[in-house]
Amino acid sequence: MSPLSQVDLRTYSLDRFREVVEPAAYERAVAVLERSRELLGGRTVWHLNSTAEGGGVAEMLRSLLAYARGAGIDARWAVIEGEPEFFRITKRLHHALHGSTGDGSPLGAQASRVYGEVLRPNIEAFLEDLRPGDAVFLHDPQTAGMAPALMAHGATVIWRCHIGTEDLTPEAEGGWGFLAPHVREVPLRVFSRQAYIPPVLDDGRSAVVQPSIDAFSAKNEEQDEDVTRAILAQSGLISGPAGNGPRSFTREDGTTGSVEREASVLREGDAPDWGDPLIVQVSRWDPLKDHGGVMRGFASFVERCDADGRSQLVLAGPDVSGVTDDPEGGIVLEELKAEWAAFPEHLRSRMHLATLPMDDVGENAAMVNALQRHASVIVQKSLREGFGLTLTEAMWKSRPVIASRVGGLQDQVSHGEEGLLLDDPADVEALGDALCRVMDDEELAAELGANARERVRADFLGIRHLAQYHDLLNGLLA
Ligand code: UDP
Repeated sequence: MSPLSQVDLRTYSLDRFREVVEPAAYERAVAVLERSRELLGGRTVWHLNSTAEGGGVAEMLRSLLAYARGAGIDARWAVIEGEPEFFRITKRLHHALHGSTGDGSPLGAQASRVYGEVLRPNIEAFLEDLRPGDAVFLHDPQTAGMAPALMAHGATVIWRCHIGTEDLTPEAEGGWGFLAPHVREVPLRVFSRQAYIPPVLDDGRSAVVQPSIDAFSAKNEEQDEDVTRAILAQSGLISGPAGNGPRSFTREDGTTGSVEREASVLREGDAPDWGDPLIVQVSRWDPLKDHGGVMRGFASFVERCDADGRSQLVLAGPDVSGVTDDPEGGIVLEELKAEWAAFPEHLRSRMHLATLPMDDVGENAAMVNALQRHASVIVQKSLREGFGLTLTEAMWKSRPVIASRVGGLQDQVSHGEEGLLLDDPADVEALGDALCRVMDDEELAAELGANARERVRADFLGIRHLAQYHDLLNGLLA
């Protein structure tokens, strides 16, 4: 049995973007993809990574490749297989490229050997399908080691790295020492931020392509207000009956789903009313998202300027019960609950810790969508952040956002234009100040939200992302 599996892809027409982006941007994208089609002359564009489900990379590939196919390109997605020891090593590399220690294990000859041994059968299997002249995008450290063999077979290889750190810590250096030899000869590597290009690969053959969101997915599609309200009521995020209104969302296959499950919410007293202003942060339960800091910033805001005393904080994240591969999430959530319990009652009763069911990813996305749309302000107070798609999602919904000036968050927002930035991500008083400012000034909130939406429309939708990939590819093929 081949260790490699192909993922079924849909075909979406780029036409959908006609109504959404500027005509010139639309025409440009269509022209780039048309040129790709000509240059490829029927050859395939492969994308290889190590998972078909879960995580931002898989989510982006699923929709981008569907649009590539809609533009007449034979885009395919294959997923490599590995053993636990391989994934332990690649996770170690992942942490290293973020500048952190991970499990601290050595990235030496033994790790290299396991890495190479697991990739070998994947390469062999892939070479049966790969034709000379095909293009291959290899995603992240897991697939980097396949590059030399695929190039030797006549493929045009691009390595796409979705992670990175601004500072070249010894950890990051160790990670790049391991990986760079595999991708040094590829004609192009792609990073999400300029600052993530390591010196060892900063040779004029590394480019920057920012991530994107899918404007038409359950997470970002338009929602009528009655749908938002019904979804929030059904999931227990606001009080009141769900009513008979539709709690609908669009599934990936185009059919309509309905939100049926409830979130599990730690709160004291009632859920917020529909009319209560919500301050929201949506994140995985990860210490770098600094949920505790958000609670303290909210407390600072309440004590100083919440005039009518009705604002509520919702911290939402995925249900971690039963998710065995994320033990950290459960621990972080437990710690957070203890932190919540230590606040005085008048604050605690206005802070809600919500875990959203993950049984149905479409339903989960619809809940995130509803919560983001209903929020008065969305916060992303990360201490570090690769890019921060939760911010992009909130901006697309015209929400005023407050984010830390770290990582990719600062690439998305100019302070005072598309949102507010916190210079010091650890400063909870500054978050309190920013909340006072936005919550007290409807005009400012509306202006920030409108600018945010424009920013995403221009820069962070899939059509730009796909066109950029193909523009770079065209440069190599021409
Ligand atoms: N997310 C979700 N359900 C949740 C919490 C988060 O679908 O309950 C999504 C969120 O909408 C976003 C992604 O997880 O699309 C998180 O991506 P981001 O780049 O913000 O941070 P990361 O988790 O990769 O550090």
